Amino acid sequence: MTMQPESVRGAPASASQSSDVEREVPLAMSPAEFRRVGRGLVDRIAGFLESVPERAVARNGSPQSVRALLRAGESLPDEGADADALLAAAANVLFDHSLFNGHPRFFGYITSSPAPIGMLGDLLAAAVNANVGAWRLAPVATEIEAQAVRWIADLIGYPEDTGGLFVSGGNMANMVGLFAARTAAADWNVRTHGLAAPDARALRVYASAETHTWIQKAADLAGIGTDAIRWIPTDADLRMDTGALRAAMARDAETGAIPLMVVGTAGSVSTGAVDPLFDIAEICREAGVWFHIDGAYGAIAAAVPGTPRDLEALHLADSVAVDPHKWLYAPLEAGCILVRNAQALRGAFAYHPPYYHFGEEATNYTDYGPQNSRGFRALKVWLALQQAGRKGYVRMVGDDIRLSERLSSLVKSSPELQAITQGLSITTFRYVPRDLQVEAPDNVGTAQQARATESYLNELNQALLDEIQRSGATFVSNAVVHGRYVLRPCIVNFNTRQSDVDALPEIVVRLGREVDAMLRSPLQRS
Ligand SMILES: *Cc1c(COP(=O)(O)O)cnc(C)c1O
Repeated sequence: MTMQPESVRGAPASASQSSDVEREVPLAMSPAEFRRVGRGLVDRIAGFLESVPERAVARNGSPQSVRALLRAGESLPDEGADADALLAAAANVLFDHSLFNGHPRFFGYITSSPAPIGMLGDLLAAAVNANVGAWRLAPVATEIEAQAVRWIADLIGYPEDTGGLFVSGGNMANMVGLFAARTAAADWNVRTHGLAAPDARALRVYASAETHTWIQKAADLAGIGTDAIRWIPTDADLRMDTGALRAAMARDAETGAIPLMVVGTAGSVSTGAVDPLFDIAEICREAGVWFHIDGAYGAIAAAVPGTPRDLEALHLADSVAVDPHKWLYAPLEAGCILVRNAQALRGAFAYHPPYYHFGEEATNYTDYGPQNSRGFRALKVWLALQQAGRKGYVRMVGDDIRLSERLSSLVKSSPELQAITQGLSITTFRYVPRDLQVEAPDNVGTAQQARATESYLNELNQALLDEIQRSGATFVSNAVVHGRYVLRPCIVNFNTRQSDVDALPEIVVRLGREVDAMLRSPLQRS
């Protein structure tokens, strides 16, 4: 954005104002206009935030209806338009037709409510427009990012003298971890010679079957291919079976393959399961293998008393992915990768092209990750960390977990709901009509009947999920747990109150009955 004094804006070129040739800048705003338009926008946003609880969680627009709203068929206008009017129109259409992940009854995926200070932080970051690729370009922003990385490390019990940086999200954070591990693991120069080098050996990655799909994208992008992933089975609680891990590593060792990394998950995306991280750390230590932890969802819970003890093992990992746009409540986007040995990041990403003359005496983040120009994502996180403080985060994350546990007990006391799992702030359950419950007197049948029932329940809960999402009353997502299709509310939402959680079972049962009746109606069945 170019600021110009009020007197210059829109005025024709005038030699009296400047000996320079006047330039017409259609994107310019005078300070006075910026103040007026900016305050107007902030007022609208404040009104919107106030109104969110009264709004539907989601609107059911089709792609066609949304495109119509935007008059998507029209071509780019030749002439410019008034900034205030444009922002007002954009705000209206967004406020009236979006899904609100900050709504108190939004429990989908792992998407947090956005901290207001983060919204303002992003505005401030854009105003300064720091390019946090190099210290010289962004001295303050670079040091703020470094401090935010240290504070996140401190919050989760990771060494504070760690390397690390901000990236777009959990996927990228994990991926950067894999690239750092790849360079460290290969005993040939994999960055120069690639995977087809004469002395190259096969690289293998070990991860539980519950690992998030980032692992596939990362293996693919790193050139090792998804077949290099050894999917380690999980136990009844969906935690990695470390006996199976040892066996898989031993089998590969016989073939001469190199273990690139073992991935432990601190809070799985489906059920919030935390892998046996102490045991995995020990296996990695013995074998001299890079231990990476995907803590995109659950790492922050390490700061909260009473959470799974394995979260105390984060400090044993060579790298940990954290996702500030999840449990640090940063507005999208903000991911963060912590790497114990900062040199491993440089080893994986630094180049020194002739067109950059940045000193080595300070951190140039472009040397530590895949990005060149880098936005100032750290600011909103740095601000929020200070606004809430450690105690504030322990309270908010702890409250999310307690609300999820409360939901689990409500589900258990609801006759038509079957509780399946509860871990961190994820509760899974499903709707089971009374006559299909195992205890129902006329439902003691053959194994074949049991399979038919399970298959119907999967169909029913899948249809129910659509209905819940369409209702606008609340929003949950799904998981498949031991072959069962289940509803999966995840609370990463400081706007959620007890009453919001208490309302959920009732909504699900009401819609569950409707969907069940519809699926069983003769018309539907024929
Ligand atoms: C969300 C999540 C990811 C991916 O993070 P994004 O921010 O969506 O890229 C990876 N792993 C786990 C465990 C997650 O919960």
